[in-house]
Amino acid sequence: MSGILLPGQENKPASDIKIELPGGFSSRKRGDETPPAEKPAETPATPPATDEGSPAEEPAAEAPAAKGRRGGGRGQPALDLLFPPAPVQIRCPNCGTPYQVALFSIIDLGVNPELKGPLLSGQINVAACPNCGVGGPLSAPLLVHEPAHNFLGVFAPMQAQNMDAQQQKAIGDLTQTLMRKLPQEARKGYMLQPKQFGDWNRFIEQLWGFEGVTPEMLRRQRNQSELLQRLLGLANDPKAMDLALQRDSGLVDRDFFALLDRFVMLASSQGQNPEPIVQIRNQLLDKTEVGRQIKARQEKVRGILQGLGANTTREQVLDTILANWQGEDGRETASALTVAVAPLLDYQFLMLVSERLENASDEEERNRLEELRQLVMAIQEQQTQSQQAMVQQVQQILQEVLQAPDSAVALRQYADYIDESFLAVLAANIQAAQRNKSTAAARRLQQIYDQALAIVQESLPDEMRLVNDLLNAPDKAALTKLLQENRSKLNKEFVSSLKVLETDMRDAGRSEVADRLKSLRSQIQLMV
Ligand SMILES: [Zn+2]
Repeated sequence: MSGILLPGQENKPASDIKIELPGGFSSRKRGDETPPAEKPAETPATPPATDEGSPAEEPAAEAPAAKGRRGGGRGQPALDLLFPPAPVQIRCPNCGTPYQVALFSIIDLGVNPELKGPLLSGQINVAACPNCGVGGPLSAPLLVHEPAHNFLGVFAPMQAQNMDAQQQKAIGDLTQTLMRKLPQEARKGYMLQPKQFGDWNRFIEQLWGFEGVTPEMLRRQRNQSELLQRLLGLANDPKAMDLALQRDSGLVDRDFFALLDRFVMLASSQGQNPEPIVQIRNQLLDKTEVGRQIKARQEKVRGILQGLGANTTREQVLDTILANWQGEDGRETASALTVAVAPLLDYQFLMLVSERLENASDEEERNRLEELRQLVMAIQEQQTQSQQAMVQQVQQILQEVLQAPDSAVALRQYADYIDESFLAVLAANIQAAQRNKSTAAARRLQQIYDQALAIVQESLPDEMRLVNDLLNAPDKAALTKLLQENRSKLNKEFVSSLKVLETDMRDAGRSEVADRLKSLRSQIQLMV
């Protein structure tokens, strides 16, 4: 958390969450606020070979909870499958927990290409215990048809030489079932003899091969995941970490940093502490060649961001991104820049990109705009999801605190969860109660708000508390008074920490706060 507490001001919830932001908590309103519009009808497609579909074994950060939830396809239309899976009951061999898995017997990727991503990323016919996480591929035959590659393969979990007549018949039956469902013209010779795989990994590797991903690439990804896990274990042992890095320096490339970034995002969106991963990332930025390159680009992006202010229009942001999409690493610079301005990427911005795309005649420009459109949609989706998860978490905590005999004591148990986002959601609840004329509820929530604010303030250093007070000053007179009262604390060090904060805020895309810190700084500079 940044330490800047301006609830409700910039933590703007996504438009599809029914929460209104408080007006009374900020001293200045955003000028360019526009009513939330509907989200575009299409949702961003997840390419099977990247992000979600990471074939590598995933470190502890992405523990069972995530896996269990993912298959659910929240918010997605019900799949219309040619061969729907059957539910099977499993008892965890490790902890004895019973749970249900969907067991697929036949998958036709020609008819149901949407199953490709889940299949490749190990979400189909792979069990994971919701309690302890232990799991693995199910030992049941799976027939996969990929007509684009004239491929019919079957995973038969038994050594080929031990294959008994019964299993051969089962495979024959599966093949027959598939053929019967396909139109006459789709039945081909290669289907008469499905390729058999006794090893699940080999089977999945074969399918990845159709996507242009070789077993070597998969192995490298797995090794990278393992390295990350080792580094996480060595976080407190710099010497051992240096050794590990020396030995596996070849594994630390841009993809490795992308993996780190993915886990940071994942941890944050699941309410876990991403700090250990961030720390490893910071060390790698200094200690490795590719890290230094990435750092140089970050600094470049920071420089560009400094040119953007609260009054920058969406057009200017888009122009800046496109203008930096030049030269060798232009694509990466532009992507990094886009991610950095994520808070500004709203529906209007997306419309603007689409509009430019429609009017662009240059092939290269069209490609860039299309890529940018995809990226913006992915960022928006990510924001919506983590926002929803965060709001849910806060509501849960609020419920418990409201029911507790002593709300201050109850709140303190959740001190780790109380941050600016928490305060923003709480503030929105107060507003809603006021609107509904539930005066008692509003007063009760306000009390909890004050208690929560006090908890956050406690954990802040003196200096930070003063910065917050100054930023939250209701008007100029109050600000002047505060400045005079705290004159003894206003020194050169204070001014330079304001500068650091301003940079942090600018990096986080919170340019309004950054601008206010800047004006505060110039005001204080005259006094020291
Ligand atoms: Zn278990």
